[in-house]
Amino acid sequence: MTNRASGSTLDQPLGMQNIEPIAETRVDSPRLELSDGRRGEIMQVPRWREEDRSVATITCACGAVSIEAVGAPLMCVICNCESCRTAGRELDSRSPVAPIVDASGGTAVVLWRKDQLKCVRGSDKWAAHRLSPGSPSRRMFTSCCGTPIFGDFTKGFWASIYRDRIPDAPKPSMRVMMSDAPDDVALPDDGLPRFRNRPGKFLLKLLTTWASMGFRTPKIAGVPD
Ligand SMILES: [Zn+2]
Ligand SMILES: [Zn+2]
Repeated sequence: MTNRASGSTLDQPLGMQNIEPIAETRVDSPRLELSDGRRGEIMQVPRWREEDRSVATITCACGAVSIEAVGAPLMCVICNCESCRTAGRELDSRSPVAPIVDASGGTAVVLWRKDQLKCVRGSDKWAAHRLSPGSPSRRMFTSCCGTPIFGDFTKGFWASIYRDRIPDAPKPSMRVMMSDAPDDVALPDDGLPRFRNRPGKFLLKLLTTWASMGFRTPKIAGVPD
């Protein structure tokens, strides 16, 4: 499954790179098909903007596993839910990189469309952590060095990449699921809006993105089911 066809990009330094061919293949993403046959009149799929023609490279600590992320992420949030905290601490206990759960119990994640992610190295080195057997939610780390890479709601179209793994990652825009945080939690005075659950603008961003994808639920190329 490892895609080494575009090997030249693998040898470049980490960070934002410009590889037009991948972005070009995404230009004709599916448009919303209306029931009466009109196409895309209500919700046009935006064409790639020039600033989106970039690739972020996400790697584990030892470098054996690498994902390329094309274009712009959906958003960056800090999740304070119980599941992220519990699973994150277990992953952090054997991780060689900085903790994904911060001092106040939040996990910063960058949401990215799965069809804009591709494992380009180390496809055989993925391991999944689940809080309960058979759960549709799994958190993916690497078997080579134990680096947590992303959270995956397997029925969803997005992946939640642990922010520290992304070079030049966007800043968080909100804290969500504060209802799961302990009442006496001490939060940094960073001015971020805090929401008890997942606010409407969060859900709307997911919904409009999913609609623009024709409500497909793609998988991440090169990552096992
Ligand atoms: Zn590794
Ligand atoms: Zn969470």
